[in-house]
Amino acid sequence: MNPRKTTSLILRVAVPAPLRGYFDYLLPEHLPAPQPGARVRIPFGRRQLVGVVFKVGNESEVETKRLRPLTSIIDDTPILDEPMRELLSWMASYYHHPIGEVVATALPVRLRKGEAAERKPQVVLRLTAQGIECTPEQFKRAPRQGQMWQTLLQQPDGINIESLRETPGYNAAVLSRLESAGLAERFNRQGPAPASGARPAPAPELNQEQAAAVAALSVQSAFKCSLLEGVTGSGKTEVYLALVEKVLATGRQALVLVPEIGLTPQLISRFNQRLSSRLAVLHSGLNDSERLDAWLAARAGEAGVVLGTRSAVLTPLHRPGLIIIDEEHDASYKQQDGLRYSARDVAVRRAQQHNIPIILGSATPALESLQNALTGRYQHLRLHSRAGAAQKPVMRLIDVRAQTLTEGLSPALVGSVQTHLDAGGQVLLFLNRRGYAPALVCHDCGWVAPCDRCDTGMTLHRGGRHLCCHHCGAQRLPPRACDNCGGQELLAVGEGTERIAAALRGLFPGVPMARFDRDTLTRKGSMEARLQEVREGKVRLLVGTQMLAKGHDFPDLSLVGVVNSDHGLFSADFRALERMAQLVTQVAGRAGRGQRAGEVLLQTRHPDHPLLRLLISEGYHPFAQATLAEREASGLPPFGHLALLQAESPQPAAPPAFLDAAAQAAYDLNLPGVELWGPIPAPMERRAGRTRGHLLLRAQKRSALHQLLHVWIPVIEKLPLARRVRWAIDIDPQDLI
Ligand code: ADP
Ligand code: ZN
Ligand code: ZN
Repeated sequence: MNPRKTTSLILRVAVPAPLRGYFDYLLPEHLPAPQPGARVRIPFGRRQLVGVVFKVGNESEVETKRLRPLTSIIDDTPILDEPMRELLSWMASYYHHPIGEVVATALPVRLRKGEAAERKPQVVLRLTAQGIECTPEQFKRAPRQGQMWQTLLQQPDGINIESLRETPGYNAAVLSRLESAGLAERFNRQGPAPASGARPAPAPELNQEQAAAVAALSVQSAFKCSLLEGVTGSGKTEVYLALVEKVLATGRQALVLVPEIGLTPQLISRFNQRLSSRLAVLHSGLNDSERLDAWLAARAGEAGVVLGTRSAVLTPLHRPGLIIIDEEHDASYKQQDGLRYSARDVAVRRAQQHNIPIILGSATPALESLQNALTGRYQHLRLHSRAGAAQKPVMRLIDVRAQTLTEGLSPALVGSVQTHLDAGGQVLLFLNRRGYAPALVCHDCGWVAPCDRCDTGMTLHRGGRHLCCHHCGAQRLPPRACDNCGGQELLAVGEGTERIAAALRGLFPGVPMARFDRDTLTRKGSMEARLQEVREGKVRLLVGTQMLAKGHDFPDLSLVGVVNSDHGLFSADFRALERMAQLVTQVAGRAGRGQRAGEVLLQTRHPDHPLLRLLISEGYHPFAQATLAEREASGLPPFGHLALLQAESPQPAAPPAFLDAAAQAAYDLNLPGVELWGPIPAPMERRAGRTRGHLLLRAQKRSALHQLLHVWIPVIEKLPLARRVRWAIDIDPQDLI
């Protein structure tokens, strides 16, 4: 169909609806033409929605008389500038996702609802100069005031009253006591935060490798992607800080992304103390007005540095100068539902568009990034040794076969824990499994207590008095007898963090211990309070999941024990081994960061596994190179490109039928260069009462894959079977589950 021209203006609008493409609207005569990037109110079906104008013109593929007029214009000036609109269009086409939903992802909730893009006055609290000079001892007799004082101390810019109310220990009476003592004050704030007046803390003198990295990176001003591969504790953050300072000095902004669990108050205060500019922090804990405030401060260029997790990659910047992705291998950069984007990959694209440098940093780079560095597409910089006085920890395997284990702990590991405790060190035992035991098993027939809604067993919690499914959240009491044979002897098999903690309490009575997992740290702020106890030495034994793997600096921690290194050695997911190696290396990196020499012990039943041995003896980089060779032989990423079509339904027959039809449609298109693997049931076929299956697409060339997807997805959408399942397409999938 030929586009039709008309005399009245036609607006191409991204509408927040799960439909692909833009929608055209007529501009009524009484309204001025909005600028591209402005929000407008539009009729959509019987509703009124808020959309963003992408184009103002006079063409449409729809007949003019069938176009509806827009209702009103919200913004006088664009809310999304041109580079941002281009980035969002690219995301819509690369991830094959409706543009309106992509745009919605990029906007704070208040803007999505059509509220004005202005800073609202807010009541803010902060410590007075007198309050800043207080010491914790002064609050010995008033612990509740002490806790609130600590909270305020963390927020040099002040904290808005709504957020303060959500912090642990908030109490209005306690707050007013701090205020009447002249230690805290409140003021009305609109617009930029007043400068704190504090002078930035001095930086340590960079060592030779750090200085070389800063020199190599700071000559870049145009687009260039660099991989900064530095062992844990090598001082990558110092390199970032030095580069950010240089960018700020030229009047430009830096965007720094960190993983979900890497964004700790410790990291925020490190950036706050060291940089002269205002920091805008974006994370999932912000309320809607704080998020809008930070977003607007970044867009106006008032915040020199934007620090945030995954979704912060779409924060608008007034004068972008540099992007940094810390722990670039981290899985939390990939969104696992809705718009399944990778913030790292989007960031690289964004840097290219702004023509600015981007740095990917990690001790354990993703194989994709490492391959790009090894082939020279990315600049490759390495930090081989730890900064300051710290030494690399010594790593050893403990063969636990035929050993008598105490709740999963070998005599050798228990002996080492004792030795390190005796020497005054702290000890961390790592196990990526929460709960008491992963299975309740019948001693007579081997029956495993299952989840009724998933193809998996349930995990025992609370010392075995409670069953919980880690995949759908279902909970129930353990049965008294086996469902299969009626046997009465049901055993808790395997270990979770709860069981390890209980075992340690028995083995090391009186030694103060803390457990870190999602069951023990449910309240906002409880993690930070517990970490503070560790840093103060009040806790000597730590047991935890991956929550403890990154970012934390415990100077007295001298032993890390990995209770089970075998997860991931024989998984169906080709990335499991890479993930295991990253996790083990990151957790090992917690040991020996201070003056004490560190030791890392890994329990395994497969001490001869060649890649595990390589990892222990040579480190992550040689391990990664060997793993890359295996990937190349099998054509898996980064040596091939994947897309995953997933489908699920409460009706077991629906997903396979839909996937078969989708596969047939792909064959009918007869496009070269793409292989179809499947359809097959997902590794856990039933989850939360739904049957799940998938079809994997693989291509040697990315362009071939996208050519197929481009014509194939519209066909799938129209399949009658598509209405009987919930389906989604995942580009560059990270989890094949
Ligand atoms: P990474 O981000 O690579 O894990 P960090 O930047 O957090 O490393 O540095 C690890 C520790 O070493 C921190 O306590 C940091 O203050 C310290 N450090 C970093 N660089 C230096 C340096 N050049 N001199 C002295 N200490 C340093
Ligand atoms: Zn039985
Ligand atoms: Zn379940």
